Amino acid sequence: MQFHLNGFRPGDPRISEPLAAGERPLSLPEETDVLIVGCGPAGLTLAAQMAAFPDIRTVIVDQKTGPLEQGQADGIAVRTMEMFQAFGFADQVKREAYWVNEATFWKPDPENSAGIIRTGRIEDTEDGLSEFPHVILNQARVHDFYLDVMHRSPQRAAPCYGRRFETLNRDQKGVTATFTNLTTGKADTIRARYVVGCDGARSGVRSSLGLQLEGDSDNAAWGVMDVLAVTDFPDIRLKSLIQSKEEGSILIIPREGGYMARFYIELDKLRADERVRERNITADHLIAAANRILRPYTLDVKDVAWWSVYEIGQRLCARYDDASEGVLPRVFIAGDACHTHSPKAGQGMNVSMQDTFNLGWKLAGVVRGQYPEDLLTTYSEERQAVAQELIDFDREWARVLAGKTGSEDDRFDDYFSTHLRYTAGTTIRYAPSRLTGDDTAQDLATGFQVGMRFHSAPVIRLADAKPMELGHVAEADGRWRLYLFGSATDQRLRDLHNWLDRDPTSPRVRYTPEDADPDAVIDIRAVFREGHRALELAEMPPGLLPRKGRYGLADYEKMFCPDPKADIWTMRGLDPRGCMVLVRPDQFIAQVLPLESQGQLTAYFDGFMLPQRG
Ligand code: FAD
Repeated sequence: MQFHLNGFRPGDPRISEPLAAGERPLSLPEETDVLIVGCGPAGLTLAAQMAAFPDIRTVIVDQKTGPLEQGQADGIAVRTMEMFQAFGFADQVKREAYWVNEATFWKPDPENSAGIIRTGRIEDTEDGLSEFPHVILNQARVHDFYLDVMHRSPQRAAPCYGRRFETLNRDQKGVTATFTNLTTGKADTIRARYVVGCDGARSGVRSSLGLQLEGDSDNAAWGVMDVLAVTDFPDIRLKSLIQSKEEGSILIIPREGGYMARFYIELDKLRADERVRERNITADHLIAAANRILRPYTLDVKDVAWWSVYEIGQRLCARYDDASEGVLPRVFIAGDACHTHSPKAGQGMNVSMQDTFNLGWKLAGVVRGQYPEDLLTTYSEERQAVAQELIDFDREWARVLAGKTGSEDDRFDDYFSTHLRYTAGTTIRYAPSRLTGDDTAQDLATGFQVGMRFHSAPVIRLADAKPMELGHVAEADGRWRLYLFGSATDQRLRDLHNWLDRDPTSPRVRYTPEDADPDAVIDIRAVFREGHRALELAEMPPGLLPRKGRYGLADYEKMFCPDPKADIWTMRGLDPRGCMVLVRPDQFIAQVLPLESQGQLTAYFDGFMLPQRG
């Protein structure tokens, strides 16, 4: 973390200086740039992202009276932890959460038809998949961390609670949304340039666009309870999938804090016209079902911290915005508003947050005049495809878990372990597009796959010999990262630096406003082949010690060397010829290019960015 650039400031450096304009109003303003409906994980990820831009007006609204306190989702995939790192709270989550290191599988005992036995035990997250663990933490705590990011921002952003979204009207210049103030009963109206509906599975924003969740009408119902219990089941502190002979399945997820555990219990399918509340299910029903499935083990529940019966179908929206022929999008939907599926693979909260992490930087760049409005169509294109894959996966997983595939695939431990990378969120790959390059230079960096997330690796920072993760330089600040891999003595690397710094066709020159710091839009970092003790800082290209801020201070944190204990060049399949790896603001790799491909780099940015200099 870097601070004191524009002068020494005492106190917690994570708290930004407040905007001179003062604190944000508690009432709904009449106008905003971005209006977010819904304070779930999707809405809060977007609000936290927008809070990084003091020049953008953002309003986030929820019908609830205050923040979520407990319940709902709890699985945090490693890819999400990588995103949390960019927001600055991954370490806190790591400290507080339960770590899913191993999973066990239980099946009916062939020797005792009334009982179950353990049939498998596997590693949950393969070594080297990410520097982060797969963790479990109450969704409400995830909300708290985002609210904290918002609160520490220059705008001191906070949600407007107690407002129910009612209607939406789009015209040539923007969108008018109406809300009911649930305290006064009066109507509120707000004009916004863009509206994002993060208002969950029964989204009113989605309905007002005339969009529908399409798919399985055969709703599954899951009982879920967070309990403090005394049990002789031996794997209560391991993630366990249990399939009994006659009584159904349970998924046990140990929870943060060491004592609590979550039980997911599959209930019967609902009829199309039936709602779960009509069945009068209570927590006692869930406890009794858990005891039947766990037999011969017992579960003596002392306290039920939260329970719910959660109804879901596998459903997906055909598009995530209001674009139509010749009309660019102004209203978007994200998260459960556009896709719903079972909680078994722990994807709901993760995919929802990744939706708005994809949208946030694009929306911010359009509002700030960096990108044309048509870039916003890439949000629906990229994220709808991701959700389609998830729905397909979830449908198959449900069949395997229920033992209904009618084949050997019924071994759910095998299915589970072969899909661990998928559930970790690390297999998502965006198709080639104007934002995602092709793979012609992929052989220069086989471990940095174009279209996939940037997979961090250890390095040593040259200036101060600090061992660190290279990926952790990326913050959720809307900037691009251009990593240059090469030898410090390679003339091509020096030529590239000179070109990036000075040439009028360089994207850094063309797209960085005159009065901004040189790394304000494209943050260039170099990773040398040489060890950190073999190089002299003063001999490095001057562009790698950029002068910044009010005092023109040098930024010493742009250059890195391999860590001899874990060499990034070997770990990420980097060719000794070196290369450029261009990473989007949402941590996805846009391009891998040879060091001498200045023209291709220019062409890439020229494909969608708006010049910032005359
Ligand atoms: P949500 O988290 O649903 O957030 C939507 C927000 O929009 C809410 O805060 C809501 O109050 C607000 N909103 C809705 N309508 C309006 C309106 N008209 N005006 C203003 N605000 C509005 N996932 C699991 O993996 N495991 C679980 O056990 C689990 N249990 C769940 C239990 C419940 C009761 C619910 C609702 C969801 C559960 N989920 C569970 C799903 C998981 O929480 C979601 O996948 C995830 O929260 C999706 O995030 P989101 O931001 O898209 O939507």
